[in-house]
Amino acid sequence: MSQIENSGYKGEALRQLKLADCDIGDIIRVTSKSKVYEGILIPRAELGEGTIVIVKMKSGYNVGINVTKEVKVEKIGKGTKPAFASPSIPKQNPALPHVVIMSTGGTIASRVDYRTGAVRSAISASDLYGVVPELADVARVDTEIVYSIYSENLTQKNWTELAQKVAERIEQGVDGIVIAHGTDTMAYTSAALSFALQNLPVPVIVVGAQRSSDRPSSDAATNLIGAVKAAGEAPFAEVCLVMHESVSDIATVVHRGTKVRKCHTSRRDTFKSINGFPIAKVKNLQVTMETDQYQRRDPKKKLVLKPNFSEKVALVKFYPGLDPAVIDFYVEKGFKGILLEGSGLGHVSKFCFDSIKNAVAKGVLVALASQCIWGRVNMNVYDTGRDLLSFGVVPLDDMFPETGLVKLMWVLGQTSDVEEAKKLLKTNIAGEFSSRTLPQDKIVEGAQ
Ligand code: ASP
Repeated sequence: MSQIENSGYKGEALRQLKLADCDIGDIIRVTSKSKVYEGILIPRAELGEGTIVIVKMKSGYNVGINVTKEVKVEKIGKGTKPAFASPSIPKQNPALPHVVIMSTGGTIASRVDYRTGAVRSAISASDLYGVVPELADVARVDTEIVYSIYSENLTQKNWTELAQKVAERIEQGVDGIVIAHGTDTMAYTSAALSFALQNLPVPVIVVGAQRSSDRPSSDAATNLIGAVKAAGEAPFAEVCLVMHESVSDIATVVHRGTKVRKCHTSRRDTFKSINGFPIAKVKNLQVTMETDQYQRRDPKKKLVLKPNFSEKVALVKFYPGLDPAVIDFYVEKGFKGILLEGSGLGHVSKFCFDSIKNAVAKGVLVALASQCIWGRVNMNVYDTGRDLLSFGVVPLDDMFPETGLVKLMWVLGQTSDVEEAKKLLKTNIAGEFSSRTLPQDKIVEGAQ
C-alpha cells in the first residue's frame, strides 16, 4: 500500500512525487537547474513548506529540496518499504491475572525506522506484548488499539471515549487496565480518568515511554512490566501513572493520577508526584505500597462512570503585564470556566480585577491555582488574595494548574449550575487535595 499520502507531503511536492510514482523508501533523483540529488525519499513534518522534498543522501545526510515546476523528480529504484513484522504473541498462563492493555499512541507505541530516521506511531498493543515477552509471566494480556496518535492531539472527547472504553472492560470483569499513552499529556489524561472513573474495583494504570520500544535505551519494557504488574496484582484501585523511578532501569513508581506531572523533557524519570508522594513501587516484579492511604481493590465495588468534560474552560497564566483583555475574550466567547494560574500564594495584578469581576458576574466559574506548583495557595495573607476571594474566585489549595484545569473541565461537564459546580470543585474526588503540606526536604527530593 502506498505511504505517500500519509507521509507529510502536500502541494507541489506531493503532486510531483505522485506523478513520478514515488513512494516512501524509493530511491529518487531530483534534478534542479544547478544540481542533481539522488537518495531515499523519506517522510517529512506535516507543518513544513508544500514544495520541499526530503531525500536521505548516501552520506546519511537528509537534504530538503525545493521542488518548483522547473525541477524534475524521477523514481530510479524501488526501495524496501519501512516494514514492521509483528512478533508472535506469547502463550498465556491461565493462573495469572487478566489485564487489558489499551494503546492510544505516543512514543511507547512508536518505533524508529532506522533507514529513514523517522519515528512513527505504528505499533499496536499486541505488538507491544510481542516486543516485551516478559509480560506473559506477569499477566494474561488482552490488547486493544483505541488510537494511534501523539498525546498532544488528544482532546476532552478522547478522555470521554477512553473512560467509557475502560468502564466497558471493567464491567467484563478484568483484573486491571493499562493505557499506553504519549507522555506529553499523559498526566492530564490520568487526572481526567481519575475524575471520570469513581469507586473503581480494580486499578487503571496509564504508562508511557521517553524512548520508543525498539531503541536499546528504551524505557518502554520496564515501564510496561511495572504497569501490568500493578494493574494485575496491586492492592489499590485508583487511576495511577507508572514510570521510571530514576534514570536506571531498576524500578518503576506508581503516582496518583491527580498528583503527577511531567517535569523533564527527556529524562526517563520525568514524572514526579507533586504535593504528594508515589503510592507504590514496582521492583523485581514485586509491588510495594508506600502508604496505607489508598482506595482498596475490591471486585465487588460498582464503578461509577462520569465521563463528561466541558470544552469551554480556559487556562490563563498570570505574568507581569498580562492584558486583562485575555480574560474578557474568553467571557465573550462563552467560556464557562477560567483557571487563573496565579503567582505565589495566589495572586494576579489589580489591573485584572475588573475583568475577573465581570467574568464572575456573567456566571463564569473562576478558580485559581499557583504557578509555583509546589505548596498550596493561601489567599488570606495579602490584600490581593483577599480581594480575589471577595470577587468569588475559588482557590484550588494544593492542586497544581494542570490538574486544576482538568477538574474545572470535569466539574463543568457535570453541572451547569455555578454554585453546584463550585461545591464539586472544592470536594476531594480523587485525592487531588492533600490534607497536609509536605516537609520541605521531601519536596526537594521529589523535585530532583
Ligand atoms: N509527543 C509524544 C506524545 O506525547 C511524546 C511521547 O510519547 O513521549 O505522544
